[in-house]
Amino acid sequence: ESFSLLPEEVDGLRSKYMSNACSVSYKNTGPLHFSHGYKARLVDINGIEYLDTRNNVAHCGHGHPEIASAITYQVSMLQTNTRYLHPHASLLAKKLSDLLPGSLERVFFVNSGSEANDLALRLARAYRMQHSGQNGATSDERKDYTIVIDHGYHGHTLSTLDVSPYKHRQGKEIEKCPSHVRIVPCPDIYRGIHSVNRSLPQKNNEPSHSKENHYCESEIEAANKYASYVELECEKNPVSAFLIEGGMSVAGVILPPKSYLRRCIDAVHKAGGLYIADEIQTGFGRLGKCMWAFQYSSGNDGDIFDEIIPDIVTVGKPFGNGQPLAAVVTTPRIASAFESLGVEYFNTFAGSPVACAAGLAMLHVLSSENLQANANAVGSYLLEMISELHSRSEWIGDIRGSGLFIGVELVRDQHTLEPATEETSFICSILKQKYKVLTSVDGAHENVIVIKPPLVFSREDAALFVSCFEEALLVDLPSMKDLVGNFGRTPT
Ligand code: PMP
Repeated sequence: ESFSLLPEEVDGLRSKYMSNACSVSYKNTGPLHFSHGYKARLVDINGIEYLDTRNNVAHCGHGHPEIASAITYQVSMLQTNTRYLHPHASLLAKKLSDLLPGSLERVFFVNSGSEANDLALRLARAYRMQHSGQNGATSDERKDYTIVIDHGYHGHTLSTLDVSPYKHRQGKEIEKCPSHVRIVPCPDIYRGIHSVNRSLPQKNNEPSHSKENHYCESEIEAANKYASYVELECEKNPVSAFLIEGGMSVAGVILPPKSYLRRCIDAVHKAGGLYIADEIQTGFGRLGKCMWAFQYSSGNDGDIFDEIIPDIVTVGKPFGNGQPLAAVVTTPRIASAFESLGVEYFNTFAGSPVACAAGLAMLHVLSSENLQANANAVGSYLLEMISELHSRSEWIGDIRGSGLFIGVELVRDQHTLEPATEETSFICSILKQKYKVLTSVDGAHENVIVIKPPLVFSREDAALFVSCFEEALLVDLPSMKDLVGNFGRTPT
């Protein structure tokens, strides 16, 4: 029945019966209505193909035949829950643990990134309770402080919203950050409060933390300065968790400076807290050089090598290649602190045979098609080509990232770094409207174009993206403004 609806009817029913709080991308230039996808392409109902540089969920590509058939077969066989034995869940738990370092070998399956982070916070709280002799944390006297990075996003549930500063500034739902959540500055060395080697003062884009920017001579100096905020929080508060992405996505593709994570983790451990690595956007080889983003800052270029092993890792988005599948992985010691509280963990849909079939097939394709190596090769090529563009375009302020996790920050002025917020949004609209290229925008000033395509993104896809991007950058933006209006943010 639904396939017989006309596009206007689809739009009409959605507007009438679905909440407006669920946004639609590209609303002003015409929302997209896809019928199918393959590799890094989405095809709309009129047969028009779009290059997808924004979908980090369809990790192995849209409509991957091996993954589709694994799911279809399992749907036709059995769909139950983890209270029964099933080989898919057991094997997937082992395979996920094998991909992680150290003794990260206890897996909890969940359905989404938000559920994963919510459970990770529960585990950290349980661990702290066990180790500090408390009998439960009451909400009016919290003993489980969490340190998070400014502009981070970790989920849409009440507990994860509390630890998502990005959402605290959006709308009026959370007006004040709860006192047990401690926000530290984002370790951004391009425009943050401790940026590296920039001699000219900032003007309109002062970060919220400080009226001044304290420039640093080196990345190490910046790393130490940024880590000192975490160290200070650890000295003052009963910290149970430090929750951070190894590559900060919503903050605008910020890869922490070398040794930052090491110093923060040491301080958190000293305070009796745990390091939770949110790998929901960045996990499973996206950064090319490493399987997990937390390994990236551990010195893959050989300068510094600190092996970083989180206490808890959360994975989601790409894990099921689009099926609701996410997980929390931790050590036996932390898992047993939680188990000793005597509460059963049951989550109806989580770790179902169908979800796990998707996860097993995704992991198989990831390795059989060498997608991490592809992310590395195509990502390096993209970075190289965008860097060449840099010399030809005044708009590009910074290019950063690794593998197929790249951010291009657009500015109005190379010296003051005034964010080109509106222009970034126009460029995304032009890319979609004229070139049929889908991109996303992130960053505290909504001026970072984020490229995080399915890992099957090819060299040809990369070349196509860069040539369209270059042409879009040449458009006379002030005059475009009247044509396309203000599109605001394109949500991920
Ligand atoms: N953590 C990060 C870093 C995310 O980007 C997201 C989703 N954008 C989440 C957690 C929440 O995941 P979900 O939407 O699956 O609940």
